[in-house]
Amino acid sequence: MDHLAPAEAPAATLRERADIPDRFKWDLTHIFPDWGAWQATYDELETKIGALAALKGTLANGPEALLAAYKLRDDIGQLEYKVWYFVGLRYDEDQRNNEINAKRQLVQTLFARHAQASAWFEPELLRIPLTTVQAWMASSPDLAVYRFAIEDWYRVQEHVLDEQGEHLLSLSSRFSTAPYDAYAALSTADVKHPAITLSTGATATLTYGQYRAILATSRNQQDRAAAFVEYHKLFESTLNTYASLYNSVLQRDWFLAQARGYRTTLEAALHGNNIPPAVVENLIETTKAGTEPLRRYHRLRKRVLGLDTYHTYDVFVPLVERDEKYPYEHGLEWLPASVDRLGRAYQRQMREALEGAWIDVYENPGKRSGAYSAPVYGVHPYMLLNYNDTLDAVFTLAHEMGHTMHTLLANAHQPFVYSGYTIFVAEVPSTLSEMLFLEYMLRKATDDRERIVLLQHAIDGIVATFYTQVLFADFELQAHRLVEEGRPITAEALGDIYFNLLRAYHGDALDYDLLTRLTWARITHFYSTPYYVYQYATCYASSAQLMKQISSGSDAERAAAVERYLTLLKSGGSDHPMTLLQRAGVDLSKPETVRAVVDQLDALVSQLEEAIEALG
Ligand SMILES: [Zn+2]
Repeated sequence: MDHLAPAEAPAATLRERADIPDRFKWDLTHIFPDWGAWQATYDELETKIGALAALKGTLANGPEALLAAYKLRDDIGQLEYKVWYFVGLRYDEDQRNNEINAKRQLVQTLFARHAQASAWFEPELLRIPLTTVQAWMASSPDLAVYRFAIEDWYRVQEHVLDEQGEHLLSLSSRFSTAPYDAYAALSTADVKHPAITLSTGATATLTYGQYRAILATSRNQQDRAAAFVEYHKLFESTLNTYASLYNSVLQRDWFLAQARGYRTTLEAALHGNNIPPAVVENLIETTKAGTEPLRRYHRLRKRVLGLDTYHTYDVFVPLVERDEKYPYEHGLEWLPASVDRLGRAYQRQMREALEGAWIDVYENPGKRSGAYSAPVYGVHPYMLLNYNDTLDAVFTLAHEMGHTMHTLLANAHQPFVYSGYTIFVAEVPSTLSEMLFLEYMLRKATDDRERIVLLQHAIDGIVATFYTQVLFADFELQAHRLVEEGRPITAEALGDIYFNLLRAYHGDALDYDLLTRLTWARITHFYSTPYYVYQYATCYASSAQLMKQISSGSDAERAAAVERYLTLLKSGGSDHPMTLLQRAGVDLSKPETVRAVVDQLDALVSQLEEAIEALG
């Protein structure tokens, strides 16, 4: 496969999938050669789920019985990756495909049956005294592989219910995603995107992508304002429905927290990963006290852009014009070069990932938006992109490649039970991958204009990945607290929280529009994965510190830091994330770790000021 062929010309209209050359599409036959093979594995999975249910009542028989149950669970887990992703990835190629969607729901139903068929496992294991299981592990090296997993069950024991309780909760899992499904239908499937006429006379249909594109590219403030107003009116017209759906998310979280005996939803969300709530509180407080460089950046933007008033819709437009294209083929060369600090073996593996038909590169009608790396255990990670030759697109490739390398190293060095890593560490390698790529691009940069573009990209990255996510985390925490305190959740109450946070962060650096009160309504993560986004921020802080360690000090110190970092990737989910990060040299319970990002932003804004000065 020749990846260094000339770039495809950017398509004026969306290409049909069939018209995109195969070398830019992922090859899912690496998972299964055909649907027959998929069906056979689906059937095998069904049989094994039945076999797991039949092991009920055997765990106390001794180490062999417990080991057999763990091995069967591993088998099922491995098959599930392949059965799910073969359907899930195909669905994402074209989400209008109802036939695939039906298969997808079939797999989801089977997974729900798996959850029900194994509901007995935990309560039965926990009825055996931990000291007994520890004696079994001492006598059986094969069982001892599961030590961390087993001991972690006992750690969370006080929040595990009896069999009847666990069964009841497993039944509720089928409708606990209802608020998110309804949000997705309301905001995507059923939405009628408004059209606006731009100052050029052109008409734009405001999908989220188009809306963001206008904010990120239009140099006409009136156009940006019009896009902002129309797009937010879309949410305003059904705002009470959004508030009601978000209320359902909050009520569900509070229901599950109370059912399991947690004091707060935050405690429930963090306990699984053994993260102290103080980490989130420290993150929120330290960030709120470090907003001055953020405000300095926005004041600089307002001046450079020559604006009399400066609004939330003005924060994305580039400071300088530079119509540079970043063809995918260049990314394929730059990316391995950018990670030279991590060693030859790392570079070699990355090239393999880039050249093996693991990546679905370009957009096509019906394709899932955004980007991800899918860890298909037993095969290899696949990456979905919507590559459009922009600087963002090439950084997204760097980001997803960070996830992919993490998956590859974890899978290669851990037994299946620890191959998956938690989201708390997941965004560390992706962010570090982006930081390395930025440095590489800055080193390569030949003029001030390019330097400004890259510095703005880096700063916007900190704003989006760190400041905005901490603001979101603060919003989620305050909204959940309303429910915990039995106070009403209304569009008004949610708007107050959001608006007050916006002002606390930006002070007089922004001019405020009333419609920003409802921005919360369109934030997908609030509905899909509560208490998720703060982890982007803690991961950002962790990578900032790791980046510093692998880039400064003596040769020996740098080499040791690289070794610690690669060990983190190879460790997968073999310990609690705070422990893994501490071993890599990062302590998130300390304000200094969070302040490192504030200092980093401060330094970048200063560099940006200098580059702008130099440009004259
Ligand atoms: Zn990511």
